Amino acid sequence: MKIIRLGMALALVLGVAACQKPGAGQVDGKRIAAADSNAEWLSYGKGYSEQRFSPLDKINAGNVGQLGLAWFAEFDTDRGQEATPLVVDGVLYTSTAWSKVFAFDARTGKQLWKFDPRVEGSKGFNACCDVVNRGVAVWKGRVYVGTIDGRLIALDAKTGQPVWSVQTTDPSKPYTITGAPRVVKDKVLIGNGGAEYGVRGYITAYDAATGKQAWRFYTVPNPTGAPDGAASDKVMAEKAGATWSDGEWKKTGGGGTAWDSIAYDPKLDLVYFGIGNGTPWNHKLRSGGKGDNLFLSSILALRPDTGEYVWHYQTTPAESWDYTATQHIMLADLTIGGQPRKVLMQAPKNGFFYVIDRANGQLISARNYTNITWATGVDPKTGRPIENPQARYKDAAFLQIPGPLGAHNWQPMAFNPKTGLVYIPTNVTPFAYTDDKGFSYKAGAWNVGVDFLVNALPTDAATLKAITAMVKGQLVAWDPVRQKAVWTVDHPYFWNAGVLSTGGGLVFQGAAQGEFAAYDAAAGRKLWSYDTGNGVIAAPMTYELDGEQYLAVMVGVGGGGQISAPGSMPQRPRLPGRLLVFKVGGKAQAPAFPKPAQPAIDLAAIQPSKGDAQHGFAVFHQNCQVCHGPNASGAWLPDLKASPMLQTADNWKGVVIDGASAPRGMASFARFLTPKDAEDARAYVIEEAKKAAGGQAAAPMPIG
Ligand code: CA
Repeated sequence: MKIIRLGMALALVLGVAACQKPGAGQVDGKRIAAADSNAEWLSYGKGYSEQRFSPLDKINAGNVGQLGLAWFAEFDTDRGQEATPLVVDGVLYTSTAWSKVFAFDARTGKQLWKFDPRVEGSKGFNACCDVVNRGVAVWKGRVYVGTIDGRLIALDAKTGQPVWSVQTTDPSKPYTITGAPRVVKDKVLIGNGGAEYGVRGYITAYDAATGKQAWRFYTVPNPTGAPDGAASDKVMAEKAGATWSDGEWKKTGGGGTAWDSIAYDPKLDLVYFGIGNGTPWNHKLRSGGKGDNLFLSSILALRPDTGEYVWHYQTTPAESWDYTATQHIMLADLTIGGQPRKVLMQAPKNGFFYVIDRANGQLISARNYTNITWATGVDPKTGRPIENPQARYKDAAFLQIPGPLGAHNWQPMAFNPKTGLVYIPTNVTPFAYTDDKGFSYKAGAWNVGVDFLVNALPTDAATLKAITAMVKGQLVAWDPVRQKAVWTVDHPYFWNAGVLSTGGGLVFQGAAQGEFAAYDAAAGRKLWSYDTGNGVIAAPMTYELDGEQYLAVMVGVGGGGQISAPGSMPQRPRLPGRLLVFKVGGKAQAPAFPKPAQPAIDLAAIQPSKGDAQHGFAVFHQNCQVCHGPNASGAWLPDLKASPMLQTADNWKGVVIDGASAPRGMASFARFLTPKDAEDARAYVIEEAKKAAGGQAAAPMPIG
């Protein structure tokens, strides 16, 4: 009896203690909405409006030069790090490549837990743009992550233990998830990627507590013409269906994946999604050259409770260039023409900066934020771009700006209400679009309908130099009211990092070559920089604890730009990702990265190939180029010219056909190539290796 009483008393005490101590990750909609204007960072873009502006001003122009490391962490993956960390009640949550999740004590950097969803390595093949993950969502004691193999997983915020997991995609199809989930009104919202390969895009809402599906909205019509029993059925029948014509989309699924941007206006009760490119890219092949193909390259406004369609704005009708509208969607209240306007802003890949009335989707203004050659403007009456007729590459290849990597990609922008400026990480990347006359749909492979052979290196050195000189990155400070640049910082390389702006009058951005820098928000003067020793692509965030302001950024180069254009990047080996956290007067030291041994192969010892190198050139550029670089120039995903796999026909076949390196992400190509094709490609790469050894290789232009 006494023991029982003692036990009961103990349970009572523990119970009371548990009640008094708030649980981990107690975030709700009210708190996320408040984070739009306070100092908390509770959702991917900070609050629901995704402005990425923190009013914190303890780090400012006066002391930014004294920033030092407060703490750092190193991760167990050397692929791209794209996540923005969240900080909730002193705990920092972040994700890394391969969809792993980590929780740290935000004061000390002590790791509290980690979660590895154990994605099968060969699934990396389905990721067009690296096995990246852009972050987690936190809601009512749980942490949500989307995985590269299409799962949505709820974790206990205190322990990292999985609570529920749902497969959001058909695992037999090349879907991926790289974007951060967002939670609105107890529903976890998640899209997917895969439109280079051939999937049908959709957005799904899951009950945050149970993982039960609440609604699904398809972004393109069902190729069978049948209703899906989904929230999108009505608008597909009334609007979208008629904008598609006969073409390859019926085999590929049409694309239109929503792989990144989501924003929410609690007052209008509208949730906004950015929608991606078509499959194949080539509109002539996809839809017979007819129709706008809704809702490709569009912004969609839906009701969060039901997925009901409210409005859309299509940035690139009849998309034919991988010009996604998945880029960062940001909500703000601006005064335009003397009137207060509730706007939505986006700088999609096509190079125009759009200011849209977010209540009804009406265009307010659009102006190109960087040099572009595919269109001359946007018609203010119709909201449609005024295209350069050559841009549709119907009769001839057309070298245009931007290419498939876009004038702006996933790297988040930031708004500063004090300067009134939006800071855009932009790219200048030309690309020669060419109709793929030999196109035929190959399930599971890239199906873009654009001939990549012409994007092999020009042999003429002067042309090559002229093209590579065009490639660069910029940080553009854009006035969204006057639609013009106020200042611009040129970066030596393209594919730089996402942006943060603060009440301290600062803009923070990392760069491809590895520096993490602070700029004056009003004038763009560089005030501070730190050499991370690795490229930076992720956006930084900031938080305050015990009166101290911290600045956190994930470090680790990778993603689409790095994979597809390694020769236009600083040449560096793959290095483990890191999380760096700074404060004024921070004294921690991150050790220099060890220099990995350079794999060297003896060209004289290579078993000669009996393959047809000329055919191998075509095989390579149709199947291998997007990861290993045009003309086998890759130095980030393995440089095949220096790969021991090149030594013998057996080694090469073992990887390319038999899948020996599948656990590391290099899936077998037996579905697409015969052993002879593979050996022909080896013959071609041996030629390139010999050329490189003779000093004839040069930096290539970027490709999609
Ligand atoms: Ca794409």
